[in-house]
Amino acid sequence: MLFRKLVEVFESLESTTKRLEMTDSLVMLFKETPSSDIDKVVFLTLGEIYPPFIGLELGLAEKLAVKALSLATGVKEEIIIEDLKKTGDLGQTGENIFSNRKSRTLLFKEPLTVDKVYSTLEKICKATGKGAQELKIKYLAGLLTNAEPKEVKYILRIAQGRLRLGIADMTILDALAIAFCGSKEYREVIERAYNLSSDIGLVAKTLTEGGIDAIKNFKVTIGKPIKPQLAERLSTIEEILEKIGGECYAEYKYDGLRIQAHVSPDEIILFSRRQENLTEQFPDVVEALRGTVKVREAILDGECVPVDPNTGELLPFQVVAHRRGRKYDVEKMVEEVPVIYFAFDLLYIDGEDLTVKPYFERRERLKTVVEETSKVKLAEYIVSKDTSEIEKFFHKAVQEGSEGLLCKSPNSLYEAGKRGWAWIKWKRSYRSEMTDTVDLTVIGAFAGKGKRAGTYGALLMAAYNPEEDVFETVCKLGSGFTDEDLAKLPEIFKPYLRGEPHPRVKTVMKADYWFTPVVVLEVIGDEITLSPMHTCGMGAVRPGSGLAVRFPRLVRFRDDKSPEDSTTVSEIIDMYKRQLKKIEQAQIPPEEKEWVESP
Ligand code: AMP
Repeated sequence: MLFRKLVEVFESLESTTKRLEMTDSLVMLFKETPSSDIDKVVFLTLGEIYPPFIGLELGLAEKLAVKALSLATGVKEEIIIEDLKKTGDLGQTGENIFSNRKSRTLLFKEPLTVDKVYSTLEKICKATGKGAQELKIKYLAGLLTNAEPKEVKYILRIAQGRLRLGIADMTILDALAIAFCGSKEYREVIERAYNLSSDIGLVAKTLTEGGIDAIKNFKVTIGKPIKPQLAERLSTIEEILEKIGGECYAEYKYDGLRIQAHVSPDEIILFSRRQENLTEQFPDVVEALRGTVKVREAILDGECVPVDPNTGELLPFQVVAHRRGRKYDVEKMVEEVPVIYFAFDLLYIDGEDLTVKPYFERRERLKTVVEETSKVKLAEYIVSKDTSEIEKFFHKAVQEGSEGLLCKSPNSLYEAGKRGWAWIKWKRSYRSEMTDTVDLTVIGAFAGKGKRAGTYGALLMAAYNPEEDVFETVCKLGSGFTDEDLAKLPEIFKPYLRGEPHPRVKTVMKADYWFTPVVVLEVIGDEITLSPMHTCGMGAVRPGSGLAVRFPRLVRFRDDKSPEDSTTVSEIIDMYKRQLKKIEQAQIPPEEKEWVESP
């Protein structure tokens, strides 16, 4: 196919902003395109060479493109730059320059084909290393030498990654449906193939070569990212259960980075929610996944969450956000911001496309495929239709650092690229800052791992209940210690060590070491949350739930305070209630307030 044909269509696309007219032009173009060129035509129309997940993008620097234009025409760079100042678009400048010297070159031209343009742009894209710049200039100049003025305009724009015809992927899919199936109705099934592969060129080729039947049978392939299924949102568990139809998989909604892992014997590739390749940024996740997947090939869906290396507690998402897009310092980041990969879905194993299987089956098979380690875990979940059981699980999730729950319909198929009611998120809507510190008594400790081997990883902290003269647990404290503090901890607590919890301690948590309540520490957290894991104020706000300090950090040792001077349980309850009031004053819409308010 001649590139000239494509340019004619580009011209007509540029002259309109109406989607229907654009679709019509594309339909005509696709009908005239031979099957061997259809993927290239689709990519070039989008101003691309490959699907975005390949990570090879056009974007030749303007300076190099000017040099190529100069080389192809013999026109001095200064003159080109002068014209560029007027047009602001090198494509237009290129067309102007070529038009002015049309008569000189016309005779020697060989018409450009789509294949020639595409393959040369491919070479430009792939040239790397020493001498790459000269090579890119040479390839582009060679292409321009054989181009007509209008072709020059588009070649230069595409090479710079600046085509911008305003064509959305969905318009291409509409046009493919009309051109090859006769109606826009087929868009949905074609879109599904696109959502399963993220490769619009492959979809176009499959359609032209195998017709709509091949598209209907389109399967997931390893190495091509599946667009992720997304969740709707509701604010009460009653509404969620009603929508889902009674029973659901209620899973922790981890606050991290969505990562789809494609695991095969040759390589492991990690894709982001937007199909970017994240493999190089997370070598630790790649390493962690190697060997934990017990089949030859698998595609896992999951969330990558930062953890405190000492306590094993989950950290807020912002911590892992620093690791995205980092080309340098990866090793340092791996050490400073360790992550856990929580798998929650299995989309493919050994040639079998599981996106067409119900969730309960995928989740069950996930268990048999992934061998859990300290760095690869399965997302926590319960299967339940009982609102109070799920609520309790919600508060446990929040206290442990999750954002809430993701409730999933057991019979739903994987709806790639769709936001629907098969998955419903129930997020903690509001938080208010904890402004006051609290003084808490140390009543136990957990053994340290890694860097903290030989000392404690975290301390179990309690508030004081003067009515019953007991200490009720309120958090695990592992942050805010200096290395010196940490090294000293076993020495400090040695005199208070005991074999079981002190009789004045109320706890459901099982620590590795127990202490007589003596040492008091001042602590600040993000907020007070409900938690079934802690005994502080158990049942006072909600049946079966205590209160906890979320994301606690040490402020200082309070040697001046006795354990009975610790913040009391009723003070913590008051702090929690004040938080609720603050939320109320912030005028939150009633439907979003419900989870924080209901008794
Ligand atoms: P949102 O970004 O608020 O629309 O919530 C959906 C996101 O939650 C997903 O894209 C995932 O990144 C994340 N997520 C965390 N835990 C889960 C889970 N168990 N199942 C599905 N998505 C999860």
